[in-house]
Amino acid sequence: MSDCIFCKIVAGKIPATKVYEDHEMLAFNDIAPARPVHVLLIPKKHITSLATAAAEDAPVLGRMLAKANEIAAAQGSPDGFRVIINTGRVGQQEVQHLHIHIVGGPDPVGPMLKRL
Ligand code: AMP
Ligand code: ZN
Repeated sequence: MSDCIFCKIVAGKIPATKVYEDHEMLAFNDIAPARPVHVLLIPKKHITSLATAAAEDAPVLGRMLAKANEIAAAQGSPDGFRVIINTGRVGQQEVQHLHIHIVGGPDPVGPMLKRL
């Protein structure tokens, strides 16, 4: 996926402020934060989106979700946080490499969505 911006971050070809990394996942600050804590957590393997994730991707995705609490607390959101995974056209996913937004900070993040 040579044209994927998040694969380029994994490869070190474009910079990011990394906040966590291990052999299978990378977390870095969102370039345009929506809350005081806004981290993107991605699998190092290119997975386009939740819409294309396969059963074989389940272990890393599970470990990413299990790691979110530690990342959020370390970045300044120890009292809870929100994870968001925008998916596909309807989910308004802009970057086509699966990523978990971890948003938080000292204060509540706001309403989940505008109600119908
Ligand atoms: P989404 O709409 O869920 O695909 O979110 C994509 C996110 O990636 C947005 O919040 C962007 O601000 C963020 N983003 C795009 N390019 C970069 C980059 N080079 N470094 C960090 N975050 C980025
Ligand atoms: Zn990618």
